[in-house]
Amino acid sequence: MTQAPSDPILLSTSLHVDEARKAIASLVNELIHESQYMNTTHDKECIALDQAIDRILAEDLLSPIDVPAADNSAMDGYAFHGVCLDESGQTVVLQIIGTAYAGKPYDGKVEPGQCLKIMTGALMPQGLDTVVPQEFTTELTLNDKPAIEFNRTLLKSGENRRLRGEDLQKGKAAISAGRILRPSDLGLAASLGIAELKVRRRLKVAILSSGDELCPLGQKLEAGSIYDSNRYSLIGLLNRLNLEIIDCGIVRDDPSALKQAFFEATKVADVLICSGGVSVGEADHTKQILQDLGDVGFWKIAMRPGRPMAFGTLKSVPGQSFAHRTLFFGLPGNPVAVMVTFYQFVRSALLQLNGASQTSPPITQAIAQDPIRKRAGRTEFQRAILGRREDGKPTVRTTGSQGAGILRSMSEANCFIILNHEQGNVAAG
Ligand code: AMP
Ligand code: MG
Repeated sequence: MTQAPSDPILLSTSLHVDEARKAIASLVNELIHESQYMNTTHDKECIALDQAIDRILAEDLLSPIDVPAADNSAMDGYAFHGVCLDESGQTVVLQIIGTAYAGKPYDGKVEPGQCLKIMTGALMPQGLDTVVPQEFTTELTLNDKPAIEFNRTLLKSGENRRLRGEDLQKGKAAISAGRILRPSDLGLAASLGIAELKVRRRLKVAILSSGDELCPLGQKLEAGSIYDSNRYSLIGLLNRLNLEIIDCGIVRDDPSALKQAFFEATKVADVLICSGGVSVGEADHTKQILQDLGDVGFWKIAMRPGRPMAFGTLKSVPGQSFAHRTLFFGLPGNPVAVMVTFYQFVRSALLQLNGASQTSPPITQAIAQDPIRKRAGRTEFQRAILGRREDGKPTVRTTGSQGAGILRSMSEANCFIILNHEQGNVAAG
């Protein structure tokens, strides 16, 4: 990020969405290296497993045990020596000499020609390697003792047995660093006897809304003012990422107030997200303020909605934040544009900065239900509803009017239709 006029991202021509993404990813990468260089130890913490959902795993989680810890039965049935299957004849007949329960192993010896009733998960007794499922067998009496018979062709030696270490070997990574922890990960860690996880510290993200027209909730709207809705969209978006939010309130369009607010934020936050004040009319104003505080570029991105955006770093207090710099996003004030730019640029940057390995949301292809108007030469993100045709193929339709201030059509949407830079109008189908 530099102020040099030769810098392509400062040219007055519009920046391709992909170039913006690349520039953001590369600056975030710089910050990560900087923080590693600073050898900050405060970016990891140990937390209890039941608190770890949606946190980012900081180090590979190595399994302290083999899973399963011993050979065991995959079925309810009868365990026996697989060699018994090699004999001739249509049926196999085996004498039942005992039972092995899950949690209550059988410790006697089982000879060929004999079997044990066994429950799913019960340890395979020494020497036994095969389990015939209950439903393949018929019970009978042989020499006054209980026995089973079954068709030899139903089974191969070694079947229905889970081998020690089959799922996971001791010392191997059960979960890799960078995973955003899901319920199954917590279960997996618990199955290994691990009660605490080392996770990334939650990033501290400051948000502020700028604009003279903004009115906080709970106050009467004056003529010409509007409620500060962006704050709540942003709080929702950030909470989904399980980050620490520092709410810096509403700041008036007053240079010294804005400067002071930015400066205060850099003392406490890893990232500052500001909404409003970067559109053409206001950018110069904000630009000047930011000049003393850091290194921020003002972008015109070839996209809709969300064209103007400021991005860069502000100097911060050493030791307080992730690096010596606070990452800065100046998002457009428009309620839809703020959300689109968050989803398209900020979200993945925050995840990347916090060490997540998966940073982009899922993308899929779908069939347009209606024609969509689109101008080539910019990337469009249309609010839309992903559905399904009768033949099971995914379909998509817009939520109607795509005006950048219409939050309702955002609220009705469950996805964005991404129309690529070069794409022109889209025909139905
Ligand atoms: P700006 O980027 O400051 O020029 O704002 C663009 C549009 O978004 C204007 O109509 C603003 O009134 C509106 N706007 C700016 N900030 C907010 C906010 N926090 N909540 C709702 N609307 C906003
Ligand atoms: Mg404004």
